[in-house]
Amino acid sequence: MTGQFTGRLVTRDDPDFEDAVLGRVFNGRRPSRRPDAVLLAETEQDIVAGVRLAAERGWTVSVRSGGHAWAVWSVRDGGLLIDLGGYRELSYDEATQVVSATPSVKGGEELTPYLEERGRFFNGGHCPSVGIGGFLLQGGQGWNQRGWGWAAESVVAVDVVTAEGELVRCDATQNADLYWAARGSGPSFPGVVTRFHLATRPLFGGLAHTVQGYRNEDFTDVMTWLYEATHRIPDNVEIVVVGMTLRTPEGESLGPGFIVTGLAFADDLPAAQDSLAIFRESPALSRAVFVKDAAPSSLAEQRVEQERSNPEHAQYICDNIWAEGDPAEIVERIRPLFTELPTPNAFTIWMSNLPTRALPDMAFSLATGAYVATYCCYDDPAEEDANRAWLEQAMANAQPVTAGQYLGDSDFTRRQLRFMADDNFAKLQEIIRARDPEGRFARYLAKDPATLNRNHWEL
Ligand SMILES: Cc1cc2nc3c(=O)[nH]c(=O)nc-3n(C[C@H](O)[C@H](O)[C@H](O)COP(=O)(O)OP(=O)(O)OC[C@H]3O[C@@H](n4cnc5c(N)ncnc54)[C@H](O)[C@@H]3O)c2cc1C
Repeated sequence: MTGQFTGRLVTRDDPDFEDAVLGRVFNGRRPSRRPDAVLLAETEQDIVAGVRLAAERGWTVSVRSGGHAWAVWSVRDGGLLIDLGGYRELSYDEATQVVSATPSVKGGEELTPYLEERGRFFNGGHCPSVGIGGFLLQGGQGWNQRGWGWAAESVVAVDVVTAEGELVRCDATQNADLYWAARGSGPSFPGVVTRFHLATRPLFGGLAHTVQGYRNEDFTDVMTWLYEATHRIPDNVEIVVVGMTLRTPEGESLGPGFIVTGLAFADDLPAAQDSLAIFRESPALSRAVFVKDAAPSSLAEQRVEQERSNPEHAQYICDNIWAEGDPAEIVERIRPLFTELPTPNAFTIWMSNLPTRALPDMAFSLATGAYVATYCCYDDPAEEDANRAWLEQAMANAQPVTAGQYLGDSDFTRRQLRFMADDNFAKLQEIIRARDPEGRFARYLAKDPATLNRNHWEL
């Protein structure tokens, strides 16, 4: 069953090989790695045929859904890259309220409007163009993850092509090992997911947004207050702090600073606005550079803002931590990540996950009360070294309050941290050994695969 594709197999001799390898990669900072071939899959059967062809040729298979992995995990040296970009299908079952979507479907641009028309919602990723494939496999910090949980918690089943080239359904009752792994293994899943089946929630009726812009001098006071206040803010509110260049609505720079934001999802606008009342207690409110107080908003408006902060094909270096410990120490240790950003386009987020709650049994298993991630965005490759040096130093400063990191914003070829509970990591390795003994599917792309899931300073 070689070469029977609806899509196309692109090899190194083809003139569009480079485009097939890199054209759909979000990060403009490109790797030098190259596969032997790229399968531009268009159907589920193409994926089955691709995995079988790889077995015949002794190729390792890597997969691309949305192409947003910052570290470009889909592009490996040698083997077959199966690109799912041309395989896009969506369907909704009224009876079960489950939406089924292929992995390259974009969470914000495609899945959200499709569900909106049906009065439903799925908390996909913040950036509208992120593919649901990589996002869900690594856990998925979607809209209001603080209240609604990890997006992977809403996965009710996945369809998977296994190492033998068989298409199987995986859920709580059949192929439960793959269902468990599909919710958190990220780029070491022993198969190709061809479809996700997702529980949806009713579409919210009101969205309200508070944004307070501050100068960096107020960082310690505001963050110390927020660490306490976040426990009292209702769980329909997503709470994010961003260290950044403050700007007017027209985009004019107001200099460095940070914003405190609350985005409330509720049945109607007044209820959403009421949920944001506690933000008015900020100790530095009178010194704020600007304040938007519980203003009506929409996901369309939020999507525009996300796209503005993350321009496609710019070059990015990013890193992240799960922050843990005494709030005063955390605030002190993460402060440089917010207040000493190296360029006007760099930014750092602090996303509240408080109060924390127990996670269901799935591969994803490491998260703390606050997520901190920095994105250094630049256009000139000559800026890479300076950005990297600054980021490494600022992340090292945060080590005493670092429990581990989130796969979504990580690059193990640069820095390896814990990303899974030890028992879950051991169980995942067993599943991989049983399901893919020959190593058909690419594993984590790491500087040192032998020391994965360890904080490098604890080795
Ligand atoms: C601008 C931007 C904003 C982001 N915002 C968020 C956010 O709000 N929340 C969040 O959690 N993350 C966010 N991320 C991180 C993002 O979720 C991850 O990079 C994720 O891996 C992207 O998924 P993808 O399918 O687009 O990536 P891809 O690069 O296509 O896939 C990443 C890897 O996942 C594996 N994989 C993907 N699809 C499959 C499949 N079908 N079967 C088997 N393995 C597969 C492969 O190993 C692949 O290399 C953001 C990233 C960017 C660039």
